[in-house]
Amino acid sequence: MSPISPDIALRDYRMPVYQVPDTVIEVLPIAQRQALKARLRTLLNQKNAVLVAHYYTDGDLQLLADETGGCVSDSLEMARFGTRIDAQTLLVCGVRFMGETAKILNPEKSILMPTLEAECSLDIGCPIDAFSAFCDQHPHHQVVVYANTSAAVKARADWMVTSGSAVDVVTMLKQQGRRIIWAPDKYLGQYVQQQTGADMILWQGACVVHEEFKGTELELLRHQYPQAKVLVHPESPASVIQQADVVGSTTGIIKAAMELDAEQFIVATDKGIFHKLRELAPGKTFIEAPTAGRSATCKSCAHCPWMAMNTLGKAIHALETGANEILVDPAIIERARKPITRLLEFTRDQKRLAGDA
Ligand code: SF4
Repeated sequence: MSPISPDIALRDYRMPVYQVPDTVIEVLPIAQRQALKARLRTLLNQKNAVLVAHYYTDGDLQLLADETGGCVSDSLEMARFGTRIDAQTLLVCGVRFMGETAKILNPEKSILMPTLEAECSLDIGCPIDAFSAFCDQHPHHQVVVYANTSAAVKARADWMVTSGSAVDVVTMLKQQGRRIIWAPDKYLGQYVQQQTGADMILWQGACVVHEEFKGTELELLRHQYPQAKVLVHPESPASVIQQADVVGSTTGIIKAAMELDAEQFIVATDKGIFHKLRELAPGKTFIEAPTAGRSATCKSCAHCPWMAMNTLGKAIHALETGANEILVDPAIIERARKPITRLLEFTRDQKRLAGDA
């Protein structure tokens, strides 16, 4: 395995300082939630809109998306879904980069979000000016960016990847003899580098949720549940990934829970995913991987504070008023579509090959 290339410019670059919001989770009586769901269902119908929700969002939003012909998925499938449906409006429940990706692939559609304040620490931590300057210093590297980036950063990239596709894409680039700039998640980058042996320079971003999972405490929990299989998202630190039975994207984690012959699972990813896990693997037990550890902090709760901003009330407000529309500069759309389309074609070809095999 080749070492990660040292890079003075990257070492010296200061990651942006940002405030992680103290999102208060909305707890509403069942009757009120039912009334809000009914109103949202009516609005989706009236406005010819579909609801596209990420696995980490509110369980009722996920239910409604499923019940109304929308989609509950990971970021790649969310991006694909919009291109397959006729609806004029997509109500994207997730974080801003997901709305931007939907707009890039569906520029003729209106993309609304419950709030434009739902960010992502990976996206914020990789501002276009600094990233672009960094790429300029390595003109012969292929620029591979994770889906969790702004439209402008995607427009600067050669490839966009997701956690489920990153190893395959980087393997292919390595076989072509390419060196790689990887951004923004350092943990996922380390995992991909370790799996592929590719020559990669890693941007130093991290997810505020997955970075909090603790290796030592996970070890203790595994002793309490010796039969449990450990499912880990690769945005987690290496000490957690090393203990995984399965390392996978959100879709990969759900698939493993459904298919593995085990009754108990320790899950290291945002706990919003437990809604889908319980629905698709009923009767199995899911245990949250430990976050706080001995140095407990209030922010360690395994739930993304930005995803939690997607509420039923805000979704209704967006559809009623047309607020929070995602707008992306057409020139950026045109450039950003290339790395995304490359990935969609790559995954499609891979599926075809797997089907033929
Ligand atoms: S869970 Fe992490 S990667 Fe996902 S949106 Fe939140 S901050 Fe970003």
